[in-house]
Amino acid sequence: IPPVVAVVGRPNVGKSTLVNRIIGRRQAVVEDVPGVTRDRVFYEAEWNGQPFTVADTGGWEYGVKGLAAKVADQAERAVEIADAVLFVVDATVGITATDEAIVAMLRRSNKPVVLVANKVDGQSQEADAAALWGLGFGYPHPVSGLHGRGTADLLDVLIDTL
Ligand code: GDP
Ligand code: MG
Repeated sequence: IPPVVAVVGRPNVGKSTLVNRIIGRRQAVVEDVPGVTRDRVFYEAEWNGQPFTVADTGGWEYGVKGLAAKVADQAERAVEIADAVLFVVDATVGITATDEAIVAMLRRSNKPVVLVANKVDGQSQEADAAALWGLGFGYPHPVSGLHGRGTADLLDVLIDTL
């Protein structure tokens, strides 16, 4: 059974776009606005001869518990079954309360976390990525899931954690 990588992060940070980049085809649903009802979905992937399963997470509903709690709950279920986690943050927005809720859950999980500073489409967002050191998950790998910038280096690091 291939190892499982859970892709977690708040809505609209670019998780599904990154998943499509990793699996090499457009299969995960990319949404301009968050809130689409969809459970987590598994995709087969491979990098440097290492097969793995990617779990995209999404489909947040704005329920009584509030968005931050909902996101953390769903992400937690995916993380429980995962061997490693890609924690995606929108570097151009920075750290939000919802990101902090996910951080707390990831700390409790004790799973290996690779921090993704997404939407670093060019050199001008590199400083935004560096600000994410503050999350406490080590190097914020600067990536553009949309354009593919940095994703090869990210996958090299991810594979090393599996
Ligand atoms: P998710 O809710 O985390 O799964 O985010 P999506 O993958 O659905 O993307 C949300 C929005 O962000 C879409 O409009 C994407 O096109 C955009 N997006 C995703 N990745 C990038 C990126 O690397 N750079 C830029 N500029 N936009 C991105
Ligand atoms: Mg999505």
